[in-house]
Amino acid sequence: MVLPDLQRLKSIFSRDIPISCKMSKASKQRRNEKRKAQRLAKKNNNHQRVPQPNIRPAPFDRSQLRYSWSFSRNLGPGLVNAFNTCFLNAVLCCLTYTAPLTQYLLTDNHKKNCTIHGFCGLCAMSEHVNKCFTTAKSLMRFSAISPNYFTSNLKKISSNLLLGRQEDAHEFFMFLLDAFTKSYTPLNSKLTPQEEDAGLVHTIFGGKLQSQVTCNNCKANSNSYDRFLDLSVQINGEKSIQNALSRFIEADTIDGYNCDACKQKVRAYKQMTANEVPHNLVIHLKRFEYDMYSNGMRKIHKSVKFPETLDMAPYISKEKKVQAAEYKLYAVLVHAGSSCDAGHYFAYVKNPQGGWLLINDETVHPVSINEVLSQRAYMLFYEQSSFITKSSNNCKPKQDNEIKRPLDFKLPEPAHAKKCLKREHEKEDEEEVVPVTAKKVKFDEMEYAIATEPEAWVVRPAGMPYRSLLGNQSPRTYSNAMGHISQWTIGTV
Ligand SMILES: [Zn+2]
Ligand SMILES: [Zn+2]
Repeated sequence: MVLPDLQRLKSIFSRDIPISCKMSKASKQRRNEKRKAQRLAKKNNNHQRVPQPNIRPAPFDRSQLRYSWSFSRNLGPGLVNAFNTCFLNAVLCCLTYTAPLTQYLLTDNHKKNCTIHGFCGLCAMSEHVNKCFTTAKSLMRFSAISPNYFTSNLKKISSNLLLGRQEDAHEFFMFLLDAFTKSYTPLNSKLTPQEEDAGLVHTIFGGKLQSQVTCNNCKANSNSYDRFLDLSVQINGEKSIQNALSRFIEADTIDGYNCDACKQKVRAYKQMTANEVPHNLVIHLKRFEYDMYSNGMRKIHKSVKFPETLDMAPYISKEKKVQAAEYKLYAVLVHAGSSCDAGHYFAYVKNPQGGWLLINDETVHPVSINEVLSQRAYMLFYEQSSFITKSSNNCKPKQDNEIKRPLDFKLPEPAHAKKCLKREHEKEDEEEVVPVTAKKVKFDEMEYAIATEPEAWVVRPAGMPYRSLLGNQSPRTYSNAMGHISQWTIGTV
């Protein structure tokens, strides 16, 4: 048999099938681009991804989300404070106890299909939730894991972040959600609003705001819409989160509005309402504001009450005819301290068993709901529990596509878990509190006590002194970290 000459074959193809020839040229170009990017990625310490031109992300399959916990857990690990990274720890805690996000990531479905070479926000979060829930270490009391896959990649999350500097937790939360979105965005491309809405992040946290302008003359309405991942509300002068939300939807008067309907220059009213509410609602309380006297940021310390069950119906656009949109609180992020670039962050989270935990960097304590509700919250995390419209009048949680099926991930072996939990229970009574010698200080016109020996904060049953690596703290935070003041020996300065 005579083998055809390669050159001859090439010329036949180029002559007879010109379209295929053009396509092969394009794919060759793509292949070259891919190789070039891979070479560049290698050169740039592997923080590039393989380009996938023209490949758009498929809409996220919502049936993969489970909104209620499929496993039980009463205690999770704390997080090591690397270097003033309490802002990061507190945000990670709130996200870790967000059931649909964590349970989706525990299935490893993202990781298996991830095309990113180098840092990927969702892969990092997958690793984090796996460490928090599927390792044997996660069951042990006093265990703390290091979220180094985030701390060592802060610049990949946002170039504005700097390790060692106290960052704003809310800002970091938004950067992190953006990093998660980038995990399914094609390289050198931007998702369209529709593609973003169909992605994981917006499926869980995404809602839509309606801005409605009503003409006072002809009563015609003009609507525009904006998507949101959280609601930022003013708290100055507001006693409760419901008051702050009422102010959020308060109508503003516009004088000299050119009405398209009646063609008159008239007075109009502009009102912002929630047109679509997300399954997981994040409310950011604007505690930091610009102070013109000091030419810097000022913190609003006031207490703003928030309920365990929040009805969002009064803040939803009237056209939606929503009778009740009930949300249950599941995480609270707190900032303690005097200013936005100092102080300390910690989080209260509801565990899969429904009990509340205070996660303050490495330390994790069960707490009462009353303690949670008495906090001066900076961010509130609510999950939708029921949604009733006037037309349907039926009570069903929105988007609840929960499918009962076995877990795709493995929790620690029951025998081991039992052993760990038993040890945990046994240790409870043994815990020793050592008196702390402290001195009184005045801060923010209030008196606080500061321990003179930070090593003696808490002593583990094994006799090992336990010292938290809490960040740059205000005296208030510092004293908060050392347990109840009644256990201290207060001396004079
Ligand atoms: Zn990934
Ligand atoms: Zn008009």
